[in-house]
Formats: sequence, structure tokens, C-alpha cells
Amino acid sequence: MQEIMDKTGVRKERVQFTFQVDLEKDLLENEVICPECKGSGMTVTQFNFGLRNAEVLGQPFPFKKQSLSFCQHCCNGVQRKCEFCGNLMARDLYCSCAESQREYRNKAYKEEKARWEEAKKITFEQAVKDYEYLYIYTSKEENFVTPDELEEYLAELKKDDPELKVLIYATKSTYLVMNAKDTVESHADDLHEEAMELISDEKYEELQGFMDKWCEEVKDETLSYYPDYSIGVVI
Ligand SMILES: [Zn+2]
Ligand SMILES: [Zn+2]
Repeated sequence: MQEIMDKTGVRKERVQFTFQVDLEKDLLENEVICPECKGSGMTVTQFNFGLRNAEVLGQPFPFKKQSLSFCQHCCNGVQRKCEFCGNLMARDLYCSCAESQREYRNKAYKEEKARWEEAKKITFEQAVKDYEYLYIYTSKEENFVTPDELEEYLAELKKDDPELKVLIYATKSTYLVMNAKDTVESHADDLHEEAMELISDEKYEELQGFMDKWCEEVKDETLSYYPDYSIGVVI
């Protein structure tokens, strides 16, 4: 390493600080001082870098410019403890333990339920007639399901969780469409200024015709569904 440094002219200097600070933390019941930074909220960051002519075998970034930056494990030197399992949560809003995840899903479900209540309602029979897919939101997962598959799908989910809560929405669909003029324009950067205007309307229409036909031919492949939150299905 010393040899590489001599060769590249890199020199090492050490900088030492001694801080004497007295920080006050008002903590809530589930908050603790971050064990990573001991509550300072700061940590030493390496800022590794390399030089083109100084690659040390297996070490492309052998040099560093260490400095202080904010601790990535906490906010202001404080971490929250999960109210269920007691684990520290770093900067995460929710812990990954099962109870915390369930709590998170239940809260999200409540919010979704409020939106569903606001939606216009149709019966399941009507939905079967009008929609290829329905959007199913449960306290466990979300999915798109055909009306035919719905009963079996929910029975499978309820096997694991008999308390499962379910909301159903209608769906909207879309598929690939392309615009001839926009497409030509996106390829015209290197052309002379009037190129776009010189192409006749007939030629654009001709290209649009090709594009419409092609998009129609791959419609099955590009057809995409998304939830229509304005229509709720009652089962
Ligand atoms: Zn910290
Ligand atoms: Zn937890």
C-alpha cells in the first residue's frame, strides 16, 4: 500500500477531534439511544475512492476520505423499539416480525375500507357480466382474479386465515397504443430543423395505420388491468 501511495503521490494525514458535548434527549416510551452511534446521531463514513493507475489487487478503491455524517441506523441518535417483539427498528416504520406486519396490514386495510365505502356499488352478478377481472384487496394480499375464480381464490386464502377481510373493486384495462408523430419526433434529434414539418400528413397517417394494426395484433400480450377504485363490488 505504501508503495502504491508513493507511486501515485497520495499522502495520508490524520485528523483527530475530541468532542465534549452534552446532548439532551426526550424519549418516548418505545424509544432508546441508538447503540450504533451511542446517541450522537453521527458516524464515520469512509468515502472510498480509487485512482486509475493505483488499482491494488482486488481493491479498486484503496483510498479513503473519512468524515463524519449522519448515522444511517437512527433518527437524531434515537431508535424506536417494536412494540410487539422489542427489536430495534433502525429507520423502518414497521418491524418485520409477524405481529407488526399484521398490525400494518390491518391499518392499511382500514384505510382501504374507507375508500371502498365511498365507491359506487354494484352486485357480484353485475360484475360477472361487465368485468373480465376483479381487483381483490384483502388484509393479507392484493390480486386480480376473474369472477369465475373468485370463490376458489378466497376459500384458499381463508384456509390460512378464517378472519380474512376482503374488499372487491371493478377494474379498468388498457393496452399499448402508439402515436406516429410522437414516435418520429423522438427519433428526430439529429435531423435538420424542418424535417418533421416536411413529412406530409399522409405519410404520418400511413405510419399511424401501421402502428394501430401492430398494436392491435399484440393487444393480448399488452392488455393490462388496474383497479377502478370508483366501483366497489358487493358479495
Ligand atoms: Zn445512530
Ligand atoms: Zn417486531
